[in-house]
Amino acid sequence: MGAGAGAGAGAGQNEPGYLKKTRILMDWLQMSSPRPLSVSTRRKIRAENMIKEGLHPFGMKLREPRGETCKTCNHSVAKRLGNIYWKCDLMNNTGGPGTDLRLKWPACQLWESA
Ligand code: SF4
Repeated sequence: MGAGAGAGAGAGQNEPGYLKKTRILMDWLQMSSPRPLSVSTRRKIRAENMIKEGLHPFGMKLREPRGETCKTCNHSVAKRLGNIYWKCDLMNNTGGPGTDLRLKWPACQLWESA
């Protein structure tokens, strides 16, 4: 089991820019915070960095021209399980928060008008 295989150690030369920026920001936040970052905070930072690099948080390229969001896409679906969880019906969705869609995210190349 790869202990310590996460932040910092072993970052490859082919590391995408958004991953490098995410790792650097998370390392800085961890050093300046008395508590470890939550999973949701790390997920949010990673998503923001991916969008800055022109990628949708699910890994696809962003749609050009910009302006549309997942909210206006035909593939965004609401799962009602006590609360409402938004998912993309093109993804392999789990029941967990890692595949939850944020409706404010910029649309990816697979966007279709609702
Ligand atoms: S296809 Fe792309 S734009 Fe549409 S909901 Fe899925 S991730 Fe968002």
